[in-house]
Amino acid sequence: MKIRAKYLWRADGSVLENALLETRGKKIVSVRRIGAKRTGRGVRDLGDAIILPGFVNAHTHLELSSLRGRVRSGRDFARWLEKVRGLRAGMTARDLRLSSRAGVEESLRSGTTTIVDHGYTGTSLRPLRAAGLRAHLVFEMIALHPDRISILEKTYRRMVRESRGSGLLRVGVAPHAPYTASAELYRSARKWIGPEQVLSTHLSEHPAEREFLISGEGLLRWLLLRRNMALHTWEAPRLSPVRYMKSLGVLRRGTLLVHCNYLNGGDIRILKERRMPVVYCPRSHAFFQHPRHPVGRLRRAGVCVALGTDSLTSNRSLSILDEMKFLAGKRRDLAPLDLFEMGTRDGARAVMGNQQAGVVARGRLSDVTAVSVSPGRGRPLERALDDDSRVLVTIVNGKVVFDASAE
Ligand SMILES: [Zn+2]
Repeated sequence: MKIRAKYLWRADGSVLENALLETRGKKIVSVRRIGAKRTGRGVRDLGDAIILPGFVNAHTHLELSSLRGRVRSGRDFARWLEKVRGLRAGMTARDLRLSSRAGVEESLRSGTTTIVDHGYTGTSLRPLRAAGLRAHLVFEMIALHPDRISILEKTYRRMVRESRGSGLLRVGVAPHAPYTASAELYRSARKWIGPEQVLSTHLSEHPAEREFLISGEGLLRWLLLRRNMALHTWEAPRLSPVRYMKSLGVLRRGTLLVHCNYLNGGDIRILKERRMPVVYCPRSHAFFQHPRHPVGRLRRAGVCVALGTDSLTSNRSLSILDEMKFLAGKRRDLAPLDLFEMGTRDGARAVMGNQQAGVVARGRLSDVTAVSVSPGRGRPLERALDDDSRVLVTIVNGKVVFDASAE
C-alpha cells in the first residue's frame, strides 16, 4: 500500500513535506519525499493531510458508549459513581453489545489504532476482534471480600480462553481502584498476567481516595457502606495511592495507572524510578472539575504520559485527537509536539512497552492514521489541531480499518 500526503510526522519529530508512505504486510517499508505533484499508479493521495502514527486511546470503557450525555455533572464524584452504576445495571446483554460495537466504530473513525478497554462484562471482545483493532481488553473487577477473588479469576480465565486466536487482542486485568479492590485482589491479578498483558487501574482520581487510604474515612467509606461492600475485611494501609500500589508490587512493567490527578513530589519520584506510565484523560478530568493535572511535572520528570478518553459518561467523544484539541486551547505548557507525542508515541510505549509502533518509520508496525490539514499558514502540527481537522484513514497492522472516502 502506498499513501501520499502533503505532510508526514517523522520519528525524529520533524515534518516531511510531500511524503510517500509505503507499507507491506504489517510493516512500514519506506518513508520518503516525492515530487509535489507526483503520485504515480497505485498511490492513494490524501492531499492536504498529515500522516501520523495511529492514536492510542489508553483508557476507555466501551460498554458505556451508549450513555453519552446521560450523566450531566461530575461535580459530586460519589453521586456520579452511583449514577453510572445504576445506568449500567439497567443495561441488558444486548444493550451492552450494541454499546460496545458503537464505541469500537467511533474509535476507528477517530484514528485509534490501539485501545485499552476496561470491560466489566467482556462484551466488547467480539466487536474489538472483528474491527481488527490492536486492543487490550482488561477485565474490570470490584471486590473487597477475599472470597470473590476465585470467582473473578474464573471469569478472567474464561475471557482469556475466548480471546485465543484473536490476533491483535489481548485480555488483561483491571482491579477497578484501591477503594473497590482489595490488596489481595491486586496481588493476585498481577500474578495472573504474562509479559504481553496489561494490568490497568484507576488511581488517585479524587482526593477522597487518598483520605480513604490514609484514614479509612470520608466520602468513599460512605459510598462503600451504601453498596454493602465488605468493609470489615478492609484495613486502611495509611499510604498515598501511589505508595500503596508500590507496597503491593503492582508498579511493574505492564501496569497502567489511570488518572493520577493528585500526586505529590514523592509520588512522582516513585513513578519515575519505577518507569510507570500514567494515563491522563483530559476532558474527563475537566468534567469532574479537578484542579490542574500534574501532566507537565510528570513529563519534565521523565514519566511517560499517555492519553485516554475515559468513558462517554464523562466525555463527549472517544477521539484522542479531540483530547489533544481540547488541551491545545487550555494548556500553554503543552506545545502541539507534546500533544502528538502523548497521543501517539508515548501511548504506544505505555501500552505496548516496546518501540514496534507509535512512530512512522521504516521497519515499524504499520499502525498509522492521517488527519486533514487546512491549507494556509502555520505549522502542520498546529493546523492538524484546528477545530475542523478530521481523521481521513485508520490503518492497523497494515490493514485499512477506516476510510473516510468510503463513507
Ligand atoms: Zn475509567
